[in-house]
Amino acid sequence: MKPVRVRFAPSPTGYLHIGGLRTALYDYLFARNQGGRMILRIEDTDRNRLVEDATPKLIRALETMDIRIDEGPAVGGEFGPYVQSERLDIYHEQADRLLEAGHAYHCFCSSETLTQMREDQQAKGEFVKYDRRCLKLSAPDIKSKLESGVPHVLRLKMPDDHRFVFDDLIRGRVEMDSSQSDDQVILKSDGFPTYHLAAVVDDHFMQISHVIRGEEWLSSTPKHIWLYNCLGWDAPEWVHLPLILNKDRSKLSKRMNDVSVESYLEKGYLKEALINFIALLGWHGADDRELYSLDELCREFSLDRVSKSGAVFDLTKLDWMNGMYIRSLPPETILERVKSYFLAQGIDLQNDSRTCRMISVARERVTLLPEIVDYCRMFYHKLPLSESDQDTLGSDNSQKVLNYLQSILEHNYPQTDEEVDHIVKATGEDLQIKGKQLYLPIRLALIRQPHGPDIAGIFMILGQDEIMERLREAIQ
Ligand code: GLU
Repeated sequence: MKPVRVRFAPSPTGYLHIGGLRTALYDYLFARNQGGRMILRIEDTDRNRLVEDATPKLIRALETMDIRIDEGPAVGGEFGPYVQSERLDIYHEQADRLLEAGHAYHCFCSSETLTQMREDQQAKGEFVKYDRRCLKLSAPDIKSKLESGVPHVLRLKMPDDHRFVFDDLIRGRVEMDSSQSDDQVILKSDGFPTYHLAAVVDDHFMQISHVIRGEEWLSSTPKHIWLYNCLGWDAPEWVHLPLILNKDRSKLSKRMNDVSVESYLEKGYLKEALINFIALLGWHGADDRELYSLDELCREFSLDRVSKSGAVFDLTKLDWMNGMYIRSLPPETILERVKSYFLAQGIDLQNDSRTCRMISVARERVTLLPEIVDYCRMFYHKLPLSESDQDTLGSDNSQKVLNYLQSILEHNYPQTDEEVDHIVKATGEDLQIKGKQLYLPIRLALIRQPHGPDIAGIFMILGQDEIMERLREAIQ
């Protein structure tokens, strides 16, 4: 068996989005599971679609998601360079070989000619493909056109009447007819290879063992197999991942897919939840389990549990999972992750036990990180009291409770949850007041709302000075 080497090969045309992250993650999980190598290759041969900064952003996004690259533009490696625009000589050399062997030919057709050709074929209801008129050019003709600098491309001559049969590790045996494949352009007039030539040449020289990519590339695979054949190379294993679908099973909408991974993070999804959720977009474990850490995924992942039917992107499930992770990661981790949201509200979170307690309380009730900030407003601000709450607070009963509590606290301030509970209980017993009559005034005084964390929690979060201040104010 060849050593496992997989590559994630994004085009730097934008951000890392959900589909890209799924491919990168499956590459990574498979590589880790098999003790193989994870390669990042930047496919920047389509010069019109390049987006400045896309490559560093992609690299950063993978890093943020803890997908570690073994070889790639930022880390190097023995099969580099890992950016296609830096490998043009390698593609030209292979294109020349194809040309010499008669597997490729020059095409001088202008874009107007090609448009006309397509329209004529469409009008006749024919399969739209290049009609090979340049294949019939004589050698002297070609020579003179080249010499006079007529713009041209190189096309791969696909076989006629050929049935491509190949094994896909997820879909099993796949068969496709050559009549469905066009004579693909492999070298463009700007001297850059197209994706097809560049990907095949690189996968060969980078010794890629498994090509893992989205199902949308399945129809290109015969062209790639043909290229391997013409170049005399062994093809890698093919692995086409299922489409990602909306809940109604239509192809994932741009609105969901084109959202960058960073913006999910900004919205307050945790990377742990995103990784877990995306891992399950097509793969499932041996049982019904739903929650996996990245390490567990690396251990458990296998291609034979990737399904071939489309995977539904269910935002409700992502939300649920995010809540689960917000509650289960160490509170210190959540504290670190919410800092920026608090800072945006002018609050500089400290790493102390009070803050930790606040986060522990708040995270029980939220789905997204910024909701923690909303929940905690009661600790940082004096929330407006509704009229009826104001009346409740001003009532004789409330004032009695609060005065009594204040007088105990002045002499004997509690340090633990148990002591707080004890003092509140004693207040009730001494005054012969219980239930809502006892707790509501205390809550309204301390957090200005009838519901919230338990009273001991409120004491621990606010601290002595703030508790006494809020009580004083409520009594006035
Ligand atoms: N550059 C292609 C893309 O943008 C890669 C396809 C492949 O993995 O072969 O998705």
